[in-house]
Amino acid sequence: MAKLLIFTLVILQLLSLLTYNTDGAIRNNRVNRKTINQHHGNYSFRDETKGSHKRNVPPTCNLPVELVDEIKSYQTIATEIIKEATEGSFQGRTYNQLAKFVDKYGSRLSGSQSLEDSIDYMINKMKNEDKLDLAYGEDAIVPHWVRGEEEAQMLTPRHKNLAILGLGRSVGTTPEGITAEVLVVRSFEELEEKADQAVGKIVVYNQPYISYGASQPYRTRGATEASKAGAVAALIRSIAPFSLDTPHTGGQNYGEGVKHIPSACITIEDAELLDRLQAQGENITIKLRMMDFNLPFTTSRNAIGELTGTEFPLKKVIVSGHIDSWDVGQGAMDDGGGCLISTEAVALLKFMGLKPKRSVQAILWTAEELGLYGGEDYARHHAADMENIIAAFESDGGTFNPTGFDVAGTDEFGCIMYEILKLSEETISATEYAMHESVSTDISHLIEKGVPGISLMNEADEYFYYHHTEADTMSMMDAGELDRGMGLWAMAAYVIADLKEDLPRRPVAKKES
Ligand SMILES: [Zn+2]
Repeated sequence: MAKLLIFTLVILQLLSLLTYNTDGAIRNNRVNRKTINQHHGNYSFRDETKGSHKRNVPPTCNLPVELVDEIKSYQTIATEIIKEATEGSFQGRTYNQLAKFVDKYGSRLSGSQSLEDSIDYMINKMKNEDKLDLAYGEDAIVPHWVRGEEEAQMLTPRHKNLAILGLGRSVGTTPEGITAEVLVVRSFEELEEKADQAVGKIVVYNQPYISYGASQPYRTRGATEASKAGAVAALIRSIAPFSLDTPHTGGQNYGEGVKHIPSACITIEDAELLDRLQAQGENITIKLRMMDFNLPFTTSRNAIGELTGTEFPLKKVIVSGHIDSWDVGQGAMDDGGGCLISTEAVALLKFMGLKPKRSVQAILWTAEELGLYGGEDYARHHAADMENIIAAFESDGGTFNPTGFDVAGTDEFGCIMYEILKLSEETISATEYAMHESVSTDISHLIEKGVPGISLMNEADEYFYYHHTEADTMSMMDAGELDRGMGLWAMAAYVIADLKEDLPRRPVAKKES
């Protein structure tokens, strides 16, 4: 009996190896991801990943039978779209196009020439290579912040270089830098209690990582709170659940009326070191030198490519990502992946000769990282046209293995998306679903106006390991995962663009004017 059991176990083990190897054939050499169950909070913050991957079945779906049947009638074409993406002529194409793009242009910070060159490239690609019906740029006004030389050293109790990354739109120091004593705190509350000790010092935040959403205020408001207490600079523990001594940059804002002081992120390791030294009674001194500066706002563009609808060309379904990135790494994960699954999805529909009733547009938003400027300008310019935006998809939380959609809209819309996801059951089976107040970043301005929002739910447990660091490169992207995300994107956008009726939307209070 025991022998039979061992035999069975060996066979099962062999079978699992076979499965792994089949899967491995379509993998690139990205390190296997270790699964951690981080809770990433809700969607009121930027750059959230997709929470706990929990299926959230709509509680009461009473869709008309005709509508459910209509969605089911797309099964054959849905399977064809996904198969063309994952094992047909588009297999591996999203990865290759993404690599070509981010290897050529590298990081693409708002205001930089590389961002503008990369926008020209994508418009040109959508026009000439993907042969879309329309491809053009729409102006948006964006910030222009320049990172200069940045360095920090602990001078006492011993000499140590600290790896730093200045935060978006931070002011710099004088050329000689700032040398000051350090006060380490673990929370805003502790800073408030010790406010009298913060005067003239560099405040170091060593806040715990709870989730990106919950911990991120230390980055966005750290300088403001430190400045209010009279500090001369703020150094913030990077917002990440894991670290190999890597600093993470990110956005920050100065509160109204506070003195603008330099602010940068330091590594988790250094934040903990400084905290321990302080607890050991050491007197810590740091020299900080940041040559960062702000230039006047400048003009950039949202890049738009369209497959024009046959019956209602002015009505559109948007699939999107943001084309700008931080000035570190390659912006492959954040958000090159979201951009390329969007452009390739529209290219795939065009290539397959599919002609939906409504238009499908790929939009690559500009200047998301410094404050959602491209998305905001788009919503403003298209304010009179909101009714024609039938749905907005955005992927800005990783393009790893897709598991379904996070959505924002009415319950009925949720039920429709749930039915559409079921069309992937016989191919990639990405059928998980969760309803939120809002999803993703740039499209939040559209969702506020009643547009149904959709974001890619994916196995993004490692997203914040790399987020906003030099390590956001092609080496963590995977061709098979990108194919599956792109296929799901293309399939769902096509079905929504071709349904008889527009999707239901949340009522929006008419603007008073
Ligand atoms: Zn992003």
